[in-house]
Amino acid sequence: AFNFCAGPAALPEAVLQQAQADLVDWQRRGCSIMEMSHRGADFVAIAERAEQDLRDLLAIPDNYKVLFLQGGATQQFAQVPMNLLGGKASADYICTGVWSEKAIAEAKKFAQVNVAATDVANHFRAVPDVSTWQLDNHAAYLHYTPNETIHGVEFDFIPSVDVPLVADYSSSILSEPLDVSKFGLIYAGAQKNIGPAGIVVVIVREDLLGRYAAGMPTIMDYAVAAKNGSMYNTPPTYSWYLSGLVFQWLKAQGGLEAIAALNARKAAKLYGAIDASGFYANPVAIANRSRMNVPFTLADARLEATFLQEAEAQHLLNLAGHRSVGGMRASIYNAVPEAAVDALIDFMADFERRHG
Ligand code: PLP
Repeated sequence: AFNFCAGPAALPEAVLQQAQADLVDWQRRGCSIMEMSHRGADFVAIAERAEQDLRDLLAIPDNYKVLFLQGGATQQFAQVPMNLLGGKASADYICTGVWSEKAIAEAKKFAQVNVAATDVANHFRAVPDVSTWQLDNHAAYLHYTPNETIHGVEFDFIPSVDVPLVADYSSSILSEPLDVSKFGLIYAGAQKNIGPAGIVVVIVREDLLGRYAAGMPTIMDYAVAAKNGSMYNTPPTYSWYLSGLVFQWLKAQGGLEAIAALNARKAAKLYGAIDASGFYANPVAIANRSRMNVPFTLADARLEATFLQEAEAQHLLNLAGHRSVGGMRASIYNAVPEAAVDALIDFMADFERRHG
């Protein structure tokens, strides 16, 4: 079967096989990977290797800390303003979809939020033109969502601003090389391109640490997490370990340049098939079409249930669009092989022939 779930998403087959063996008995130590102390030498080695592999993959500069935290990307919606306002009153946000909206709603509890640009009136089908952005000169940071998982809208550029740039990379991290030095902070929930649910990776420039907001719980303080190697309390050891296996797998695939070329090919094929048909459609501006999440509609919405049933019978799983927007969505993250995209395209053409 091929799994097109938006998250928790498909993991590489080789990673799952390795995890299966380690779950029972890790390196003949007589205990499961899940049963080891996070402070023991074995787990510390696993954790350090995972961090180093991630640093290698993204070429993370030395003046950035890598944190492995809990609470998902949703917790970061609060943790970012709590940590980065640093005495300032306001922060800039760019709104390109549902996840931006959620980040904005949470930040409003801590800051005066200036929505510098939004595509809401256009039903989130494009990244607003930079010339229309109304940035606030006094903002503590600018937050944006490089890839909107639900609407399938992806930035085709990294914003250039004078304040620290903060990005929710949950659904596109590790899909291509990234110049981390352009960011103040990057966060990404794991359950798409990193590993299983239960962990969120934060990459933060060191000079942004320690801007303590009064009353902030200790567990929310990035500086405390950094000082304790993300082990201020018990970390999600299994998710961390499995993320490490994904990083090793990515390196074995040839790193981010190789995976980016594959991702570009997969996306081009699928959008090409959609555009070539009069039956399927994708509404997103071409320059902003996501390489990871491809939403599409059928010419007759009454056929959606049949489409999903037939797809599942062909072992093409989880193609329903997000419940808030409907339609279809194929998430084609790193671990979804090109053969999955080919099988989906064949199925779509066949479905169109029979029902179109
Ligand atoms: N941000 C983006 C872009 C997402 O796609 C998601 C989840 O799908 C989230 C945030 C929320 O992540 P979590 O469920 O880990 O809190």
